[in-house]
Amino acid sequence: MLGPVILAASRSDRMRRFVSAAPGTKQVVARFIAGETVDQVVPVIEDAAAKGLEVTLDVVGEDITTREQAFAARDAYLELIDRLKGLELGARAEMSVKLSMFGQALEGGHELALANVRPVVEAAAEIGTTVTLDAEDHTTLDSMFAIHEELRKDFPQTGCVIQAYLFRTEDDARRLAASGSRVRIVKGAYKEPASVAYQDKAEIDKAYVRVLKILLEGEGYPMIGSHDPRLIAVTQELARRAGRKLDEYEFQMLYGIRSEEHLRLAAEGHRMRVYTAYGTDWYGYFMRRLAEKPANLLFFVRSMITK
Ligand code: FAD
Repeated sequence: MLGPVILAASRSDRMRRFVSAAPGTKQVVARFIAGETVDQVVPVIEDAAAKGLEVTLDVVGEDITTREQAFAARDAYLELIDRLKGLELGARAEMSVKLSMFGQALEGGHELALANVRPVVEAAAEIGTTVTLDAEDHTTLDSMFAIHEELRKDFPQTGCVIQAYLFRTEDDARRLAASGSRVRIVKGAYKEPASVAYQDKAEIDKAYVRVLKILLEGEGYPMIGSHDPRLIAVTQELARRAGRKLDEYEFQMLYGIRSEEHLRLAAEGHRMRVYTAYGTDWYGYFMRRLAEKPANLLFFVRSMITK
């Protein structure tokens, strides 16, 4: 019940101002956001690497309104990649990007987002790593998949994300489960209408398993983005049945969520990548984390009251 309300609030400017100014916000945000600057996130990356974890780095931000903001997003990723050079982690540290942050929703946005993301993908390739295009709301996906296809002509390792809650996703999974592709499957974090997406949790979980089967039985490299213990166990069983070795797929979880499980899976020999978000424009990302687990909202409200 609360989830859709929080997701609606994630698009409200008035709520953005209220939440950003609320006492206690910073403390709760810090659970999900690894820092505000590159300097703050570098020790987090080093710590993850020391623990045998891999990372995908997200400079938070989305729904920008000017071309200048889109250029600034590109430059923030270029600055990050420049810092990663010195860490020599190669593909152990990759990048996740939201095309809306690169200008996708502005006039001429498809071309603008492609022009802005290309130098990031090029710079990532120069240091031996890659970029994954996050999936945002369903209206953006045709453009995202077209940009993904375009980038893959020069950088075949560029990844993308598909969302189990969308009716279209099984078809997308079949198209993408080809040799050399890297595809992250997630449940889906946006407020979507019943005309395009399953609304019921059990239906979404069933769809997730169907997509998992397609990806694991296919030729590509599946990235399993979920904290759900049942889906993790199902992945392990389906991967075994499909004859996949442990390094032929990977698990991904979000920074700050089920951290002990990150370590457990890595200790079992799995590739475990932590989606590590940082930056100052954390509002949309933070609100989606609240929507996923209403207990987070209670924790947030309590921290405001006790301040
Ligand atoms: P759930 O059933 O939601 O959660 C299972 C269990 O995990 C919960 O019981 C709880 O213990 C824990 N948990 C889950 N979420 C939280 C939380 N916020 N706070 C505390 N505990 C929690 N969505 C997109 O739409 N596009 C993307 O590009 C995208 N990228 C993602 C990348 C990664 C690596 C991950 C892990 C998720 C991504 N998501 C993305 C979000 C995803 O769609 C889900 O909203 C999110 O993962 C919650 O679903 P779940 O599979 O973890 O299962």
